[in-house]
Parts: sequence; C-alpha cells; structure tokens
Amino acid sequence: MTKQNKAFKFRLFPNKEQAVLLAKTFGCVRFVYNKMLAERKETYVKFKDDKEILKKEKFPTPAKYKGEFPFLKEVDSLALANAQINLQTAYKNFFEGNAEFPKYKNRKAKQSYTTNLVNGNIELKDGHIKLPKLKFVKIKQHREIPENYKLKSCTISRTKSGKYYVSVLTEYEKEIKPKTIENVIGLDFAMAELYVSSENEKANYPHYYRVMSDKLAKAQRILAKRKKGSERWNKQRLVVAKLHEKVANQRKNFLHLKSKELASYFDAVVIEDLNMKGMSQALHFGKSVHDNGWGMFTTFLAYKLKEQGKQLVKIDKWFPSTKKCSCCGAENPMKLSERTYNCSCGYVAGRDYNSAINIKNEGIRLLALA
Ligand SMILES: [Zn+2]
Repeated sequence: MTKQNKAFKFRLFPNKEQAVLLAKTFGCVRFVYNKMLAERKETYVKFKDDKEILKKEKFPTPAKYKGEFPFLKEVDSLALANAQINLQTAYKNFFEGNAEFPKYKNRKAKQSYTTNLVNGNIELKDGHIKLPKLKFVKIKQHREIPENYKLKSCTISRTKSGKYYVSVLTEYEKEIKPKTIENVIGLDFAMAELYVSSENEKANYPHYYRVMSDKLAKAQRILAKRKKGSERWNKQRLVVAKLHEKVANQRKNFLHLKSKELASYFDAVVIEDLNMKGMSQALHFGKSVHDNGWGMFTTFLAYKLKEQGKQLVKIDKWFPSTKKCSCCGAENPMKLSERTYNCSCGYVAGRDYNSAINIKNEGIRLLALA
C-alpha cells in the first residue's frame, strides 16, 4: 500500500466578519514571512562567505514576534507556522542552487495561507467548512470527499477579482501494481502547441482558449493606456483580473484533459527534463514559456501515471533529440528556424516529430536498463 495525495478545491463564501479575519491572516502571514526573511538576509550578508555558519544558524520562529506584535495572536498560528516552513523551503532551494534568494512578499502577491488538521480543528459539515479561528464558513462543495480519505491541510486563497477558495489536501492508501510497459509515447515540447508527439500529434490549445487569450491581451492593452489609480483604470483592472482567471482555468482544464488522455492510453510517457527558467532565458522567449503551461502539464502527467502504476520517464536535457536522425541515427546540425528535418539518408520529417521519436526511443532504452 502506498500513500497518495489528492486535493479538492471548493469555492468559499465567508461572511463579512470572516472576510475581515481572512484579510488579517493573509496580512499576518506575509508580515511574519518578511520579518523572518529580513533576519535571514541580515545573517546572510554578514556571513556570505561561510556557508557552514549560515547552515547552522537557527531559523527564526513566528512565536518570537508575538510579544512585539500582539496582532499576530489574533490569527491562526498554524498559518504562521506554515509561512516559516515555506521560507525554509525557499531558503534550502537557494542553498542547493535551485532557486534565487527568496524575495519579500508584497501586497500584490497571491493572497493565501495554509493551515493543518490538528485535533479536529477542520471539519466539513452541511455545506460548511470549519477552519481554525473562523468557525464554520460556507462552501460550495460540488463533490464528496470519500470517507477513507484523511484530511491533512487546507489552503485558503483569494483571487484578484475577490473570489475565495479552499483547497483541501487529503491522503489515502492505495495499492498500486506496477504496470507492464507496452505502449510508450515520446513528447517534444513545442512553443505554440504545447507538444508534438512521436505519433505526430499536436496538443494544440482549443480555439476557445485562443479567443479568450486574445481578449485578455486586448483588455491588458486598454488597461495600460488608462491613468493609473483612476476610476476607469480600477474598473479595467477588474476586467483584466477576471479574464486572467478565466484563461488560467481554461488552460488548467485543458492540461488536465490532455494528461488524462495520455495517461490512460500509454504505459509510459517520455519527456525531456527541461529547465523552463533556464530555457526561457537562453532562447529569449520570455514569459511565453511559463504561460504555455508545460510545467503544470508534466506535474499532472506524473501523478496521473503514478496512480496507475505507470511511468513518466525524463531524459537528459543534453540528449541530442533535435539533431539526431530518428531513421539512421546520424547527427545533423539544426538551426532554430528550420522546421523540417532533412537527413542525407533520405529521411524527411517535421522537426518536432523527429525529436519526439528520438525522445521516445531514448526513453525505451532507459526503461530497458532499469
Ligand atoms: Zn538519417
């Protein structure tokens, strides 16, 4: 039996009083996060060259600030404790060279906090959820959480357009038998279409998504022309926020759908282990690589395969998937602008299709070794 996690996200409808407390909690979480970060930054600047000292330095805890800032006592202390854990993770990632030094959170950052289940402090009952300090908050529970799923934690968030959500993280036990691998597919990351597969299929975002993205871009252009802080600007800002949420939801649904499709048809999916951040910088694609959703897509794919005993195979990012001829194995240099692969052996194929076949074959080789 292995432990599996599943999150359930519901819309939350706090009353006025609860909304005030939520705003306070978001604020306090941000406040302690920034306080702790400021302390860490100070030590870091002082002992920059001695990583051993930095590693041993004790992490500040939220409790430490409660005397000086008594308003912190009004909010859920677990939320504050999780702010510390988040900062510790960010700090660790920095030390391991996987991320930049953590940044301060400002008011514009996403408003959210996480709290944990301790002694029945969280409970779902009659269209309401009991949360620490808030008591029962109304929710729209569109689906039941199975009885054998244990509640672990809740993340409460507020979107820019003012909607509240609670994401309930659960844990359950499941027996997963490893699946015999028969059907394998390779995916080559593609800018506009998300991916091209070794079956020469593109993931292509649906038409309605493109229509909505264009609408969003137009709304953003209008916002840029308006006087910052004016009434019309504020109105337009809300329009942009709502469209932004809509586009993000559509993209997420599409990524769920595509990953589900692949995870049900194939026993193993092979992808390149791309470092998205590095890639967007190297190729000057800027923001579009992040917006394309590849990171989210591969996360969905990984867990959808795993829960069926199937595999996501990541191949080395230095593997010459683009240069290699998937027919004869020769390597031919390719310019970024070349869309068709031509080999002296006579093989001709779409650039991404050829890559996807190479990725698939490399994945099969790795699976055989394992
Ligand atoms: Zn060839």
